[in-house]
Amino acid sequence: MGTAATVLLKRGKERSLLRRNPWIYANAVARVEGAPGNGTLVAVRGEDRRFLAWGAYSPGSAIRVRCWSFEEAALPDEAWMTARVAQAVARRAALRAHSAAVRLVFGEADRLPGLVVDRYGDTLVVQIQAAGVDAWREPLLDALCAASACSQVFDRSDAALREREGLAPGGGVLRGAPPPARIDIREHGVDFHVDVRRGHKTGFYIDQRDNRRLAADWVRGFVRAHGRAPRVLNCFCYTGGFSIAAARAGAASVVSVDSSADALALAGANAALNGLDAGPSAGALHWRCADVFAELRSLREQDARFDLIILDPPKFATNQHQVERAARAYKDINLSALRLLEPGGALMSFSCSGAVDADLFQKIVAGAVVDAGVDCHLQARLGAGADHPTLVTHPEGEYLKGLLLERV
Ligand code: SAH
Repeated sequence: MGTAATVLLKRGKERSLLRRNPWIYANAVARVEGAPGNGTLVAVRGEDRRFLAWGAYSPGSAIRVRCWSFEEAALPDEAWMTARVAQAVARRAALRAHSAAVRLVFGEADRLPGLVVDRYGDTLVVQIQAAGVDAWREPLLDALCAASACSQVFDRSDAALREREGLAPGGGVLRGAPPPARIDIREHGVDFHVDVRRGHKTGFYIDQRDNRRLAADWVRGFVRAHGRAPRVLNCFCYTGGFSIAAARAGAASVVSVDSSADALALAGANAALNGLDAGPSAGALHWRCADVFAELRSLREQDARFDLIILDPPKFATNQHQVERAARAYKDINLSALRLLEPGGALMSFSCSGAVDADLFQKIVAGAVVDAGVDCHLQARLGAGADHPTLVTHPEGEYLKGLLLERV
């Protein structure tokens, strides 16, 4: 396409593109030919004018171009967008047997940078957080509805991220009827209400699907091995995902802690939805609206003991500058948790900070193990579900990591 504006890179700055990393930072750009608008398709060329990629231009963003394709012949147009969306949706088809909540599009990993689409039953919840996908919004939504056979689309784009891209705040109904206050989904046999209007992100932490099941499997294994039901502590429980999975699997008790009263209200409703609010287990679910850092200390003072502890905190580091402080916070909660853990018990510890990589996270947790004066086996390294893949050429996309430790 001879008419497309061209972004010329500085010498040497083509290297990451040749490795198919889709992000071009502002400081890599030497010059722009033509006057591309926000989200306009541009050709990216090296200093020698060699073609490198087609991408979307974001003049106000530190990520100046997000690349769509690295093949000159594959000029992104409506048919191309439709095909990418159809591929992304098809790739997840098998997951629907496990859950009604599935991430259908995960930005860069699906080579649709800036677009996130979560399916809850027959409702799609989207986040449109890059100028390029905003410019192609209508054809992308057409393609999504066609590929998923869903007709309702609700927008939960993050206003701050849109602002950085020079976009007006999104939000609200994009297609079909407004979503109900609660959408009910079943995940690995456990039922959850999801508030897609006001919940965190798009309403539910879909990425933890398989880890919630792992917690349930661990509980069942414990019962078989020890002939008694384990006591569970779930820190940063949100709407009770791990708590309810563990309770349904036969935990003796589950103490759940979160600082959000709204999340806990929905967690209580989720317990009821799963029949956990009546019968012998009625007293076994405890929801505590508290700060986890303080609650872990107070549990220690009470000499509380647990067989399974889950730590799934919010992102402690949003960039490299915050890594040190985040490391201290991770160490703190992991150390406090390990001090409450019985021998033979397990700690499932997560970090969703992209800036803290898997190696560093393991070192931090190992430091907590040393300070706690205990021995632990590393039983498994954990990550997000299959609908949150990482593109090998874009490791920045890998954010969720976890460790399953068993205290010896
Ligand atoms: N494990 C959950 C998701 C956790 S998201 C699931 O499977 O659904 C992180 C949660 O931590 C949010 O619900 C947020 O309200 C809570 N949170 C953040 N900071 C906190 C703090 N200092 N103390 C307690 N909860 C906190």
